[in-house]
Amino acid sequence: MFDASPSAAAPVARLIQEFHKLPGIGPKSAQRLTYYLLRAPLEEAQALAQAILEMKDKIVFCSVCQNVTDTDPCLICDNPQRDRSQICVVEEALDILALERSGSYHGLYHVLHGVISPMDGVGPEDLKIEELLERLKGGDVQEVILATNPNLEGEATAMYLSRLLRPLGLRVTRLARGLPTGADLEYADDLTLARALEGRQEVS
Ligand SMILES: [Zn+2]
Repeated sequence: MFDASPSAAAPVARLIQEFHKLPGIGPKSAQRLTYYLLRAPLEEAQALAQAILEMKDKIVFCSVCQNVTDTDPCLICDNPQRDRSQICVVEEALDILALERSGSYHGLYHVLHGVISPMDGVGPEDLKIEELLERLKGGDVQEVILATNPNLEGEATAMYLSRLLRPLGLRVTRLARGLPTGADLEYADDLTLARALEGRQEVS
């Protein structure tokens, strides 16, 4: 196991290790965060700990779209203004934030909670694909927009889904190129995302 601070007191070393497990946090950042909290007032450390626990306690997956939410169905599924003929399929709930920020999409979403990745042992059965197929049975949905990330796994997942969905007689589209290849949706700027949505193309 990673040990960035063999000389640190055990509780300090433990927090450094916990921070280091988080995405994007290297050993240096883990140490910096830990020593910041060491100096911070007790209330600040408590607020952080409580925010984490409350999030884990109150957040569930929306039973319709699998978005993270504290109400079920989520606010998007529950909103009568949303266009129910479109479902935008994304990898992670975080991608919904990016697409909502772009302000150019008014349909519904479906969160897969991952991508097909044989290297990591993730197959289609590990994703929320059954739940998606179930939603399409209602007959309201006319278009499924595949908005997985423009990298190897994202493309493979989009390909798999398009093969699954096209026989159902739906319009199946993919976000336009122009998103930086290999980049995550969540890092794309609003205008780029809006253009990618607008220029989406039917999957052949
Ligand atoms: Zn929902």
